[in-house]
Amino acid sequence: MVAKEIQIRPIVGLEIHVQLSTRTKMFCRCPVEFAAAPNSRVCPVCLGLPGALPVINRRAYELALKAGVALNCRVAAFTKWDRKSYYYPDMPKNYQISQYDLPLSEDGLFEIPRPDGSTKAIGIIRAHLEEDAGKNMHEGLDHTRVDLNRAGTPLLEIVTRPDLCGADEAQLFCTELQRLVRYLGISEADMQKGQMRFEPNVNLAISWNGREYRTPISEIKNLNSFRSVRLAIGYEIERQAREWKADHDYTLEKRGKMNFGWDDVREATEFQRGKEESHDYRYFPDPDLTPAVPEPNLIEAMRAEVGELPVARQRRFVAEYGMTDKDCEIILADRETGVLYEDAIGAGADAKTLTKHFIGIWNHIASGTNRSVGRLGVDAARIADLAGIVTDGTVSATAAQQVADLIYRSREGPPDSAEHIAAVAGLVQERDESAMQAWVDEAFASNPKAIEDAAKNPKKAKAAVGFLRGQVMKLSKGKADPRLAGELIEKKLKEA
Ligand SMILES: [Zn+2]
Repeated sequence: MVAKEIQIRPIVGLEIHVQLSTRTKMFCRCPVEFAAAPNSRVCPVCLGLPGALPVINRRAYELALKAGVALNCRVAAFTKWDRKSYYYPDMPKNYQISQYDLPLSEDGLFEIPRPDGSTKAIGIIRAHLEEDAGKNMHEGLDHTRVDLNRAGTPLLEIVTRPDLCGADEAQLFCTELQRLVRYLGISEADMQKGQMRFEPNVNLAISWNGREYRTPISEIKNLNSFRSVRLAIGYEIERQAREWKADHDYTLEKRGKMNFGWDDVREATEFQRGKEESHDYRYFPDPDLTPAVPEPNLIEAMRAEVGELPVARQRRFVAEYGMTDKDCEIILADRETGVLYEDAIGAGADAKTLTKHFIGIWNHIASGTNRSVGRLGVDAARIADLAGIVTDGTVSATAAQQVADLIYRSREGPPDSAEHIAAVAGLVQERDESAMQAWVDEAFASNPKAIEDAAKNPKKAKAAVGFLRGQVMKLSKGKADPRLAGELIEKKLKEA
């Protein structure tokens, strides 16, 4: 008998920790600061000294609420704080304040774009608030130092349903989530600073011989880049399939859940330990903190602040302004840039030219300043103005960059029109036909060989037009309107 074909379906879920954008920690007033001198941003509360009492950071609570609303979650009318007990050197209290059975928000959906242009909704089990631990710094083989500056930093933990079908989709989810939290000002989500960390859960549903097998769930701990998320999930999918093929008892029922680490150098997962269950943590309500009941108008206020989500906005920009997804990567990277774009449209800019300017000249200036286009401080009216004078041919597409630079440099001065700025800088295109004709004639006179070639071989005519236009641009010091120059050159070539 021929063996039946094996069908493998990966099942992937994610736990994501996002550091909330607050100035101070979750339960004390210590500043949240990256790379401060070790143990210089601590106090009795975050050191867990006896008698110190935690107080909730209102801003962290609001940001977490905002995230819950943005993830289409049901926001709890009543939520409380629990102690999750475990012992680890970077945890001075020997418990972490988290949320167990009554999280801030539950049961949401988050839409991610798929490469084919469609979207997929991924279920969100919960999003809750908790505090971060400190950091162990392993130095050599014989000693480890502990820095508690990070202890007590507010974190939002987001747990998805296992709706992701593989490594690429998981990476897409992470990218889109980063865009969301940045867009809403919830987190800076800078992975190099550990502000966004991922823990994928991976297993396989294997159909074979009329039966379905489920491999053990691997939880891969503490990944801090999109790349490692993709590689680690891909690695686990292959490893689990291999293990099961060698031993059909390699199943969830027989082996349970397991924790793995990720070795970025070997690009492989490493078994750490069997996974603990929630009863291992001895959760119980924190007696030092009162439960939180969000005021109804606070939830409404957050809903208003969230507004249109990036995925929906991207869909609309593609449909309304003819953008590609690639254009959207720059224009919708943050909320301000998208708003500025639409303000410029409102001020009368042509969408096609404006898109080109945003991803070209304005983005060029923005990357030089380490800010987004939306944060350059250039007002929408002048951006629209520049798009207008390029569309109507007053300045060339090439000169537009110089005009944009001048607009940017004078952004705090009197609001001169783009045309005025271009005129002062001598960047207005020459469209006077007699002046143009003179440059064309001069170009013809100094390049008889090109004209002769074009006349002999029609295939070379196009190249000759390009070459001669270049000469005209040079003679005019860049002021000639290239389109008009091209027309005059073609006409003269035909006459030759
Ligand atoms: Zn503190």
